[in-house]
Amino acid sequence: MGTLSLQNVCKTFAGGVVAVKDVTFSVPPGAFCVLLGPSGCGKSTTLRMVAGLEGVSSGTVSIDGTVLNTLHPKDRDIAMVFQNYALYPHLTVAENIAFPLNMRGVPKEQVRARVARAAEAMQLTELLARRPAQLSGGQRQRVAVARAIVREPKVFLFDEPLSNLDARMRMQTRNELRALHHRLRVTSLYVTHDQEEALSLADIIVVMAGGRVRQVGTPVEVFDSPADRFVAGFVGTPAMNFVEATASSVDGVTVLDAGAFQTFAPDITARTGHRYTLGVRPSHIQLMQNGATGGASLSTVVGSVEYLGDVMDVSLIAGTHTLTARTPARPGLIPGQTVRATIDPRHIQVFEPGPDGTSIGRAATHPAPQTSVLSAP
Ligand code: ATP
Repeated sequence: MGTLSLQNVCKTFAGGVVAVKDVTFSVPPGAFCVLLGPSGCGKSTTLRMVAGLEGVSSGTVSIDGTVLNTLHPKDRDIAMVFQNYALYPHLTVAENIAFPLNMRGVPKEQVRARVARAAEAMQLTELLARRPAQLSGGQRQRVAVARAIVREPKVFLFDEPLSNLDARMRMQTRNELRALHHRLRVTSLYVTHDQEEALSLADIIVVMAGGRVRQVGTPVEVFDSPADRFVAGFVGTPAMNFVEATASSVDGVTVLDAGAFQTFAPDITARTGHRYTLGVRPSHIQLMQNGATGGASLSTVVGSVEYLGDVMDVSLIAGTHTLTARTPARPGLIPGQTVRATIDPRHIQVFEPGPDGTSIGRAATHPAPQTSVLSAP
């Protein structure tokens, strides 16, 4: 187990393409860190710099304080699992797993024992004599992981290892990876653009956009307290709703007016007359049952209903805004119907304006009478 650290790492490709800008984060020993971001944000380049497959333009990559920048990939004590498995088609599963050990001249007896252990860990014992063409996609990916763990490296790197698998196999292999990590506890860096994969696997998520780090945090921190509007919108499905609001003050308490609704924001220090962006997760919009009482609400018209089994995604038109609500499935909700919706101010995130606006906190952090959403006009 090792501590992996990146300090002010930058990468500019020939031709002046700046792919990675000033990336700094650290993965403690045994932690599973996921680099998450949209296509082209620089996550693979970052991973490849750690592996030594790309040079670092400036900054340092180190394991346990030893700077790796100039070390050859094979001298880095790192094993990497790629998206496309990269298995040798003419070798059996056993020979593929043994390959990195044979390359390093490990004695035959040791190779046999280590291959058997890695194969068992990845449930491949029955398949050791097969060739890659005789395996399913999920089994091939398990061989690729076994070939990485057999080396017993200080750090594992995974480059979108599940993206070639179908949805069911992805979920199953994800569960296996999580279980494997809990058993082996090897420091891991894992690249994906799939936020659900990141939330489910990571101890630490590093969210990247445009070559830069936007937030480093636990899955709960990234989901519940996004650093900016980009992170808030990228993590979570359906995506967070955003509406623009103008700040004013009533008896010294901030009020944010989004037109269709207003909310007290006692825990926000806002500049009167300034615009802010309010963010609300779909699961935090409650639809009120007929005849329900208590709590302030806003009047909305149902735009569309997407039935998903145990839940439904409902688009709600409120004035000029369209909000998505995720609610428990219930019969009888139809487009055109008027429903009242409530939003607890403790679940309203407030951002500076603009697509990258930084978070300035939640409208309220405590339940209190004055923190209820004001009724719609
Ligand atoms: P994806 O999820 O699509 O793989 P990514 O987040 O991993 O994307 P990178 O592959 O790291 O992104 O690419 C970051 C940026 O660097 C992109 O704009 C890409 O076009 C550019 N880039 C990557 N490799 C090179 C290269 N060899 N030469 C020039 N530009 C490159």
